[in-house]
Amino acid sequence: MPNAHALSGRIAIVTGAAQGIGRACAERLARDGAKVVLSDINAAVGQATADGIVKSGGIASFVKADVSQPSDVAALLAAAIAKHGRIDILVNNAGIIDSADFLELSLADFDRVLGVNLRGAFLMAQGAARQMVKQIEADKTGKHVAGTIINMSSVNAHFGLPDHVAYSVSKGGISQMTKAAAVSLAKYGIRVNAIGPGTINTEIVKAVADNPAAMKRIMSRTPLGRMGEPSEVAAIAAFLAGDDASYITGQTIYPDGGRMFLNYMVDVPG
Ligand code: NAD
Repeated sequence: MPNAHALSGRIAIVTGAAQGIGRACAERLARDGAKVVLSDINAAVGQATADGIVKSGGIASFVKADVSQPSDVAALLAAAIAKHGRIDILVNNAGIIDSADFLELSLADFDRVLGVNLRGAFLMAQGAARQMVKQIEADKTGKHVAGTIINMSSVNAHFGLPDHVAYSVSKGGISQMTKAAAVSLAKYGIRVNAIGPGTINTEIVKAVADNPAAMKRIMSRTPLGRMGEPSEVAAIAAFLAGDDASYITGQTIYPDGGRMFLNYMVDVPG
């Protein structure tokens, strides 16, 4: 049961929030009391998601932005500050996937995936952290919390996917950026953590979810025997964003159904 007061009054930005995991994070943070600025390249669906949160009693708005574009990132951060005066939580979630093995991967695709998943996450994190530091320096009351950043990584920060090479590289980068940013920003009290999902039931995995043979392969590497739900990832984002995680920084939490620590494979019937 979400705690309606856990994030009361905090200002959150969620990127890639139109659908999937980002949407679930935005909805959960709003239910926990945060005022959420949703952002996405998909304006129609993003706006509808924000409207849905408002209809359910939450505080939410939408700003269209492509995280790979520095001018869009600057405009998104400025819009959030203009609306709410501060930024307390960033969920750096926007992500895309490529589909080529190492020999076939084009430079354009490599750049495109790294541009969104890693460069975009860096631009957002740096911009948000600069604002959080300003807030800390301006805070004469000392009553505001320092701010926190949550990066959406993946189990593929550690595993190599043969046909999603750029994606695997980008998530390895996210894992390292999380650690480096965490130790760099610790002196301000700003916490930086990551979530590394396994297979979660969203559009990005639709191609495999609709393919029984592919699903069987995935389940053979999933001890809990099912895909995860976006809400199960969002619950971790809410925990990491809140004060219960006040001594956690530089970490990645893996909602992966046990995949990371499975040696060999699970028997899957059928
Ligand atoms: P999704 O495709 O359902 O949603 C991704 C969202 O990001 C979409 O709304 C899309 O419009 C938006 N987006 C794409 N490019 C963007 C850009 N340049 N700027 C802003 N927004 C952009 O995918 P999802 O499964 O919800 O994935 C969300 C995050 O979780 C991604 O970072 C993904 O790598 C990560 N992840 C997903 C899984 C999974 O199994 N679903 C597993 C591990 C990690």
